[in-house]
Amino acid sequence: QGQLQNIDQKGNGRLGVITNYLSDKFEWAAELVNKLNVVFGIDSFRLVQEGVCNANMSGRDIVCVMPTGGGKSLTYQLPAIKSIGCTIVISPLISLIRDQILHLRESNVEAVMLMSGIAQDEMRSIMRRLDETATGKGGVKLCYVTPERLSKSDNFMFMVQKLAKNGRLARFVIDEAHCISQQGHDFRTDYKKLSMLRQQFPKIPILALSATCSQKVLEDLLQILGLKPITPGRSANLNGTVYFSSPLYRENLNYKVVEKSSVRAEVIRHMVEYILEHHPNASGIIYCLSRRDSEAVAKDIQVRSEGKIRTGVYHSGIPDPVKEKLHEDWRSGAIKVVCATIAFGLGIDKADVRFVMHHSKSVQNYYQESGRAGRDGKDADCILYYRSMDAFRYNELKQESKQSHQQIHEMLRFLQDTNECRNVLFAKHFALSAWSADELARCGHCDNCTRAPGAVEERDITVDAWRVLRISQALKRADENVTAQKLSDCARGVGAEVKKPEMAAVGKVSLSKQDTEALVIHLMLEQYLTVKLHRTAHKTVTYLEPGKADHATAFMNRSQAQVDEARTGARMMYAFLIPEKKVKTKASAGGGPSPASGNTTPPPRRKKSNAK
Ligand code: ADP
Ligand code: MG
Repeated sequence: QGQLQNIDQKGNGRLGVITNYLSDKFEWAAELVNKLNVVFGIDSFRLVQEGVCNANMSGRDIVCVMPTGGGKSLTYQLPAIKSIGCTIVISPLISLIRDQILHLRESNVEAVMLMSGIAQDEMRSIMRRLDETATGKGGVKLCYVTPERLSKSDNFMFMVQKLAKNGRLARFVIDEAHCISQQGHDFRTDYKKLSMLRQQFPKIPILALSATCSQKVLEDLLQILGLKPITPGRSANLNGTVYFSSPLYRENLNYKVVEKSSVRAEVIRHMVEYILEHHPNASGIIYCLSRRDSEAVAKDIQVRSEGKIRTGVYHSGIPDPVKEKLHEDWRSGAIKVVCATIAFGLGIDKADVRFVMHHSKSVQNYYQESGRAGRDGKDADCILYYRSMDAFRYNELKQESKQSHQQIHEMLRFLQDTNECRNVLFAKHFALSAWSADELARCGHCDNCTRAPGAVEERDITVDAWRVLRISQALKRADENVTAQKLSDCARGVGAEVKKPEMAAVGKVSLSKQDTEALVIHLMLEQYLTVKLHRTAHKTVTYLEPGKADHATAFMNRSQAQVDEARTGARMMYAFLIPEKKVKTKASAGGGPSPASGNTTPPPRRKKSNAK
């Protein structure tokens, strides 16, 4: 007992820190499985569920990180019905709680929910049932509450005290626990107040759940909740917090980045053709950047598809009854595609979402929102439409922090990477100490794993890069502030500025518009160009200027002759994406593999290991 070890769980993939909580030797094991089958209608545990349930039954503090759709709810619901008293679940969204309650009631589990706006008499009835639970007469197993409500209601806190005093408070569960950290992407002020749980109830175990939890967020989370440090692997420390993480890798999700046309109608056409070709009768989500955008996209898709694709709209400005109707129509299949802002998120529990398409602000968002596809374990596509230049637009929307700027850089890196497996990129992004990048296998079915030979072409960009930088220098000298877009245009000889003799002397780049934009972004990411943020009252504009790093100045200061003849300094190479249409014709004409993509033969698609 208490021996901690790293093991691979029945082919379910590599796990973070594993304990011997994965065992059927526990006294409750048989009954847990029985309830799993009978109450939830589920045959077997998935990912780290079994270990979390056992640690939960053992009264430990736990942090559990499992991908969206992985089945985090079960890790507290199952122990809750086996425990004495009530488990209190803090969950951020009402829609999310509603879904859970609905499912629990269908399974005959007694569950209640508390949120703002609840009617007086209903509140009274809930409090009465909780009181009966506290005195051993009733059996509320799960009580859901929003953090806002928890921090506002003295009555309720008093009841929680009573439950605890009578030994009828089984556990606190904090869902979407990353909301507690300001370093995460969903920070909520009321989550911070959850630090009072450990202060007021030092003996009640806590389970924190999340789908995305970086090292920094994890540290915050432990500190704010007052949890002890994570029990390290192979130690016998039974005091620490038990940490479970399961692979982020969901093998049924096919990630794909599609370069978006700057012409809006083109994007719609692409979406419609794609849906009709691959998922004519399936449900999907299209995430849009604004409310207006989601309305427009919904309309355009329906029109463009001549009514073949029935769409609905969801965003925070839609009245509640309309939202509920939409949920209903979507569930029943009357609406196939929901065009939405990210408000349509947490709490959607539709298993057969076959595709998620969107524009995204961060790698984290893309990962998280894509996670809503394929919860039934069957194949689903997660398509990200992007134009690098758009990344800066998000920055312009409002005053943003340095951190969000860093997110934009990460996103651009992700977008521009035409080689590394998307799943490996995700794993690196969310890396926790238990993972090392070299251990990660390529998924074999994302866009980068399945690129056709010739889809990527590595070219010498030394001269063009030098031109871009020289032009940037000239603009700087002339006190011209330029955005990435403007700089690309100037580099191609477009715009009034290029008439200046100094710039004319440099010459134009010999690349297409799209490739020039890619090059400018590349130079920025490699710090040959540097970002200058210009804040006004309403927005932040991102300008680019020559980088100050040594490698940047050394490169810029090469003479024209040096660059042309490549006598000094290394050449600069860049892997350009070849437009899909051209790749096809090339391939059929017998074009061989390019040097950039020839080094990776995609492995065969992985066998399902945890499917059921
Ligand atoms: P999460 O909170 O991790 O995003 P949920 O708890 O909402 O995921 O579960 C997602 C779906 O997976 C639910 O429909 C749930 O019934 C289902 N599920 C959970 N555990 C299992 C399992 N062991 N086997 C099959 N389905 C499961
Ligand atoms: Mg959940």
